[in-house]
Amino acid sequence: MAPTFTKKHVHLSERSTIAWRVAQTAVWLVGATILTCLLFFPSIGIVLFWDILIPVAPALLVIAPGLWRNVCPLATTNLMPRRLGLSKRRKLTGKQSGIFGLVAVVALYLIVPLRHAVFNTNGPATAMLIIAMAVIGVSLGFFYEWKSAWCSGLCPIHPVEKLYGANVFLTVPNAQCDKCMHCVTPCPDSTANFNPGSSKKTIWMRISALLITAGLPGFIWGWFHVPDAASITSISSFFSVYEMPMAGLVFTLAIYSLLSAIIQNKYERKLSGLFAAAAVSCYYWYRIPALFGFGSWGRDGLLVDLSKILSAWAITGITLALTIFFFYRLFIAEKNRKSWLIRPVKVGAKA
Ligand code: SF4
Repeated sequence: MAPTFTKKHVHLSERSTIAWRVAQTAVWLVGATILTCLLFFPSIGIVLFWDILIPVAPALLVIAPGLWRNVCPLATTNLMPRRLGLSKRRKLTGKQSGIFGLVAVVALYLIVPLRHAVFNTNGPATAMLIIAMAVIGVSLGFFYEWKSAWCSGLCPIHPVEKLYGANVFLTVPNAQCDKCMHCVTPCPDSTANFNPGSSKKTIWMRISALLITAGLPGFIWGWFHVPDAASITSISSFFSVYEMPMAGLVFTLAIYSLLSAIIQNKYERKLSGLFAAAAVSCYYWYRIPALFGFGSWGRDGLLVDLSKILSAWAITGITLALTIFFFYRLFIAEKNRKSWLIRPVKVGAKA
């Protein structure tokens, strides 16, 4: 049976629910396999995680973040307490939600430079990072309702979902929340064209929206100008991995603040789209060449070396095409009023 659609909500049929559970289990097993490889076969685990899964993620967040949020292995794990009836099902206050969002942005900016210092070359350390996130997420799941505390709160990927997922192609039914409990307002999954500026109720939300929207393009640019360190020998070499990303972040933050002060309020969303497009385009501008042997730092981030059989122009053509696509989608195209997921039937409503 196909899902039953109402105007704004969807109730998953038994068959659709089973299909999503199968998909969630399959992706969870893939995640567990990658985690096992990171621990016991690090060279394979690093390629699977950092050179295949992570490079696909930004494009997926532009096209269909809801698809990822339905099957993310960390989400499936963290929602176990809720699914098993072990959660206290508390709701976050607006202030808590704002603070969680800000912590997520700060965590993103603190963790990502450490890839150069540790994670890109150390499988067990990457596995520990993932396990630590799962432990935090599951712990929160014992107290808070559905996705509010982790998936729509502390997860360091969530700020990037908000920035890149502002004009998605694909909306699918919500396969995680059985019924909508209004656990977070506005719900990022169920709000059309959700973006960092969609919730600015508290000062914490406004700071995190500014930091992710304005800072991310420069942060990414700076990140790609740091090589993977073979070994960290001193405290100063450890902190050196932060210098370029933070310099880039401050630079684009200043440009954004200047433009934001000049333009009319009604163009704020366009400006956010421009910076989102710049961030994701910058990522692939550097990441695709590095994946295929045309990177600036030798074998850093290499998936397969095609430099002997492929012209550099082909790589430039691919990155240019992607850049045009992202700028069209996030900056030029009209907002299409699509959400990441279709809200499940609300509690109290008839299914
Ligand atoms: S759909 Fe409802 S229950 Fe699920 S995360 Fe959004 S607000 Fe919470």
